[in-house]
Amino acid sequence: PSSLRGVDRKPSSIPEGAVTPLSVDFNAWYLDVIAKAELADYGPVRGTMVIRPYGYAIWEAIQEYLNAKFKETGHSNMYFPQFIPYSFIEKEASHVEGFSPELAVVTIGGGKELEEKLVVRPTSETIVNHMFTQWIQSYRDLPIMINQWANVTRWEMRTKPFIRTLEFLWQEGHTAHATAEEAEKEALQMIDVYKKFAYEQAAIPVIAGRKSKAETFAGASCTYTIEAMMGDRKALQAGTSHNLGQNFSRAFETQFTDENGERQHVWQTSWAISTRFVGGIIMTHGDDTGLMLPPRLAPIQVVIVPIWKKGNERIGVLSTAASVEQILKSAEIKVKIDNSEQRTPGWKFNFWEMKGVPVRIEIGPRDVANGSVVVSRRDVPGKLGKDLGISMEPSVLIAHVKSTLEDVQASLLQRATLFRDRNIVDVSSYEELKEAISEGKWARGPWSASDVEEQKVKEETGATIRCFPFDQPEGSKVCFMTGNPAEEVAIFARSY
Ligand code: AMP
Repeated sequence: PSSLRGVDRKPSSIPEGAVTPLSVDFNAWYLDVIAKAELADYGPVRGTMVIRPYGYAIWEAIQEYLNAKFKETGHSNMYFPQFIPYSFIEKEASHVEGFSPELAVVTIGGGKELEEKLVVRPTSETIVNHMFTQWIQSYRDLPIMINQWANVTRWEMRTKPFIRTLEFLWQEGHTAHATAEEAEKEALQMIDVYKKFAYEQAAIPVIAGRKSKAETFAGASCTYTIEAMMGDRKALQAGTSHNLGQNFSRAFETQFTDENGERQHVWQTSWAISTRFVGGIIMTHGDDTGLMLPPRLAPIQVVIVPIWKKGNERIGVLSTAASVEQILKSAEIKVKIDNSEQRTPGWKFNFWEMKGVPVRIEIGPRDVANGSVVVSRRDVPGKLGKDLGISMEPSVLIAHVKSTLEDVQASLLQRATLFRDRNIVDVSSYEELKEAISEGKWARGPWSASDVEEQKVKEETGATIRCFPFDQPEGSKVCFMTGNPAEEVAIFARSY
């Protein structure tokens, strides 16, 4: 990997074709999975990536679900230009402060020095507000609820495929409302859409909550987040929803005339999930064998491996495999048949396991004779995960495969939830926090200390406040740092 700094190559003892075991080196494992499962490759420019078809198909499954949810909740898709006048970025003070170090700026166009520099969009609040100012006149024009699927560019210094790249794909929702209450409701609604998506589709038991002031989006009044625990127990900010208050509407004079004829600034939100989420799926569910995909987002839910030894078995096995494929397709199960002649069944088993396909069906000559197949689960190894002699009768086979996929989906969530809960420690002193963090765990404890003390925790332990979770324990609390009364517990962790 030429473009990633500080990345170790896998030890030479790992057999050809296999991934570095996760327990040996999590980072090497992650990069191996991405390469070997053909999810992505490095782009020629440092920090950029090429998303390959199998990785892109996971992103498409994410898009398909979220796009439908955004529409159900009243949003329309549209598209804004990627080039933003530099002056726009400068209009909102904290926005420019937060984003300046990460901007890619165009100074030459068509061989000529530009009169005004252009920013390659890092996010679209400024250009959105520029347009909203023209579209919004009266309260009748509100709310505006839009979303765009786009690429964004942030000149990140430390990069990692999917997790943090210079250019990434995302959706960004932008809304404008007549009241503060409506904007707050919208910001909360969208973090809840993300949370449900994470639990129900990705089987990732995220913790939803509010960011601390120090971690709030540059230009927002309040940021809500979903935080996920990866397999190495680091936290991943997997999606964010911002209540922007009137910060951008004041900077861009986005005003409307209310029912009493008075001019008011609109209240706004923005919210985003990016291709980072694909990295989150890899690092939540993967194991030593490779990728493990939740069935609801898996591009291939079932792989069929036909097995034959003698030439005269071949035709029978292949035609049976093809009819099993048709049966599953008719039930809208995403199925692939691997009938390549160059590879052995054993090789195919390993390959599709490494690619994280949730369910495998084997069909051999004996199965053809019996009218049955062998169904195996990716998440349960060896014989334990095998159901022998499942009838090929369409209704029986479809019901069995569907319930197996649902079982895999549920067990992935359950496994990740157990892992998460085993690795969160309740702390009541700074010493306890330091201990938990040094063990690689998340620390949860009452917090009402200052930004300065938050910074101190970061410097001394590497952990940041991931969020003040929405789910709060009952009872009175004492800040573990200061001993003062605290209203909330916060979760601290090292993060990506
Ligand atoms: P933000 O606009 O900073 O709130 O970012 C929105 C979401 O995009 C975050 O919650 C991350 O999940 C994701 N994200 C931010 N920066 C990157 C990056 N460099 N690469 C991939 N995803 C990112």
